[in-house]
Amino acid sequence: ESVIKLEKIVKNYKVGTQIVRALRSVSLNINRGEYVAIMGASGSGKSTMMNVIGCLDTPTSGFYELNKQDVSHLSDDELAEIRNKEIGFVFQTFNLLPRNTALENVMLPLVYAGVKKQQRIEKAEKILTEVGLADRIEHKPNELSGGQRQRVAVARALINNPSILLADEPTGNLDSKISEEIMQLFAEIHRKGNTLVVVTHEESIAMHAHRIIRLKDGEIEADYVNPNPVY
Ligand code: ADP
Ligand code: ADP
Repeated sequence: ESVIKLEKIVKNYKVGTQIVRALRSVSLNINRGEYVAIMGASGSGKSTMMNVIGCLDTPTSGFYELNKQDVSHLSDDELAEIRNKEIGFVFQTFNLLPRNTALENVMLPLVYAGVKKQQRIEKAEKILTEVGLADRIEHKPNELSGGQRQRVAVARALINNPSILLADEPTGNLDSKISEEIMQLFAEIHRKGNTLVVVTHEESIAMHAHRIIRLKDGEIEADYVNPNPVY
């Protein structure tokens, strides 16, 4: 069952009189439950692709179907709504609210979704427990280690049951031991049936995914099953 279907996606940026061709006719299908790493050198188009997949930006041309719905030509408001419902984001910089506790950070997407307070708290406590932070619920980001902050961010990303967990260099700010722990958490999330897309330039991170897509100069250079995923 297709979750992400890109068809001949082109993304051009205008810079003065120059046109930068960031994605040059990218076609791709990702099914529910897949664990995909998108790799490529700096400038190859990874961020642009993540922005399109994450409904943060629309393509110049081509089609994007998310859960069989065409999202290639939506307004910013419509895109924002799809994003909140369908996509859980994890960033290198965690992007947590500094004045709020782990619990409050994780509950926030449920506030936008209109879930009642008691249910928000129960759901957030449950998911924080699942990511191993049962005893850190009242901690604020600056009272947590880097790895714990990223766990909070993963919990927040998952709380709405998104169709895709989309992670951009999720271990970029973590040392290698903590990075492995986060990738172990991703493996568990994958085992539970979630669809994961991880954008990274790090080979050691990509090797956890079950499918590897390599971008080069805005095109897919390779797309193959990882014969030997870690975990
Ligand atoms: P990566 O994430 O792999 O480093 P990007 O998607 O950021 O690649 O960039 C792909 C190409 O598009 C690069 O040549 C980059 O300079 C260009 N680019 C990216 N974002 C913009 C932008 N907002 N305006 C103009 N050019 C951009
Ligand atoms: P790590 O070495 O894994 O990065 P730290 O040494 O930063 O972790 O933190 C160790 C433990 O102490 C963590 O479990 C974290 O929750 C807790 N902790 C760290 N900083 C604070 C703080 N300012 N206030 C309360 N607890 C903290």
